[in-house]
Amino acid sequence: MTTTLRDADRVLRGVGVGRGAAVGPVVRVHPAPALPPAEPAVADPAAAVTAALDAVARDLDALAESADGTLREVLRATAAMADDEMLRTEALRRVAGGTAPARAVDEAVEEVCATFTAAGGYLAERVTDLRSVRHRVVARLLGLPAPGVPLLTEPSVVVAEDLAPADTAGLDPRLVLAIVTEQGGPTGHTAIIAGQLGLPCVVRAPGASVLEDGDRVAVDAAAGVVHRDPGPALRKQLAGRAADLRSLAEDTAPGATADGHPVALLANIGTAEDARALPPGAEGVGLFRTEVLFLSRAVAPAVEEQADVYAAVLASLGDRKVVVRTLDAGADKPLPFAGLPPEENPALGVRGYRLARRRPELLDDQLRALALAARRTGTEPWVMAPMVATPAEASAFAARARGAGLSTVGAMVEVPSAAWSASALLADLDFVSIGTNDLAQYTMAADRLQGDLTDLLDPWQPAVLGLVERTVTAARAAGRPVGICGESAADPVMALVLVGLGVTSLSMSASSLPAVRFSLRQHSRATCTEIARAALASPDAHGARAAASARVAPEVRRTLALPEQG
Ligand code: PEP
Ligand code: MG
Repeated sequence: MTTTLRDADRVLRGVGVGRGAAVGPVVRVHPAPALPPAEPAVADPAAAVTAALDAVARDLDALAESADGTLREVLRATAAMADDEMLRTEALRRVAGGTAPARAVDEAVEEVCATFTAAGGYLAERVTDLRSVRHRVVARLLGLPAPGVPLLTEPSVVVAEDLAPADTAGLDPRLVLAIVTEQGGPTGHTAIIAGQLGLPCVVRAPGASVLEDGDRVAVDAAAGVVHRDPGPALRKQLAGRAADLRSLAEDTAPGATADGHPVALLANIGTAEDARALPPGAEGVGLFRTEVLFLSRAVAPAVEEQADVYAAVLASLGDRKVVVRTLDAGADKPLPFAGLPPEENPALGVRGYRLARRRPELLDDQLRALALAARRTGTEPWVMAPMVATPAEASAFAARARGAGLSTVGAMVEVPSAAWSASALLADLDFVSIGTNDLAQYTMAADRLQGDLTDLLDPWQPAVLGLVERTVTAARAAGRPVGICGESAADPVMALVLVGLGVTSLSMSASSLPAVRFSLRQHSRATCTEIARAALASPDAHGARAAASARVAPEVRRTLALPEQG
């Protein structure tokens, strides 16, 4: 396709999340309030700051209560930021020194942001959330309307520079057609929440700020593109795709290839609400990220409390399988109650299963709580440890879990050493699950939170595919199940490669299941094997993706709008 200057003006390119598409009018998110040169005088500036911080924390807590699942946890964490002692102390110290209230809050937030940014990883990603607290508090102090998404009166495409969780909480899923942001990345909250809501989303779209209220746009998440003022042909094409995707979701039969080879299609969840909201197309849960339950907790949750949540998840799933991952703390997921000291290289430090070196009682409590939940519900979860690096760690974890009364025990393969030693790892395990997000990060030595390293952080990289193949081959030789629970399982082309390699299950965000189910159903197992061979024979990630895509059935290519060149 040739691109004229006019096309370039009309097309914004970013990173797509999901495969959906939508056409509708733009509604812009209200901008953050700017500080005036002089603020109106107030009688008691310290009391005004305290009242504004309290009110924003209360508002955010109320929003959290009306939200579900992962979003609720994220909002609670944001509300806790408005309550943060360091922020409050810094703001009040400035007010005491004569700074006006809104400016004092603004400066205090910037100071805390600098600390978070210096800490890197998860904390650096929370800077957006902290600034959303700043905008709300400053608006309140200046008597301005709350920034964020206005009340929607018709189905609309929400366009923002970036969306904080609090903004997303204001979205009515019946009225939001799609989300477009200028900033953010595919692992940020906007993308996670859009995926959870099943909304088409394009993030990191430079130039999105030119879009104005009422502009008509077409959002094509599969292509990562936003079209301004789309013509009738494009509108028709995208509406057709949206309808196709909706109808795919009606198929809830168990996952299988065209010739009936079964591949369990499972969902990734973070909370009991996620489990309750699981669509019928999910054959179970392939990854329950238990740390999501406790992200904002300063004190370790008691065994009883944990048992209640795990029992709620097991009960919602009935006889569907649930794979529970023990706490994956550290690096990008700090758990305050774990009490881990700051590290120079947290992604390479005490995280995941390694937490048991410092706080073994946290792991044992969690295993006891899981066993208790299993007894109460009569449903036995599968349990696995994150970030296992050696066969000795796998054996030690298996002994602990079995000692607690759990009988189906596995490990995640997300460190290259674990993939390399997969045969030995499996000696004491019942199953393994490959976490391709971290496996790509550690194989390619590329921080998964670094948006500009996405070419390295690519599961199509030959070294990553090679380690996946090695793990799957070892599991098959041992006669053990081997699943994939990283984001790559949600790619309808990569899913074919993985099935061709021999994986027994694929676990992903629930909204990705229909496209993957459809893709599998259009290809025989032999074709999947051929596609996997073609990908493995390629010298680089681009070639692997292109070689696999070239062999995908035209029907799948058309319905899912797969790009011509992979
Ligand atoms: C992974 O690393 O692929 C994975 C599924 O775990 P998480 O994304 O929670 O680190
Ligand atoms: Mg991981």
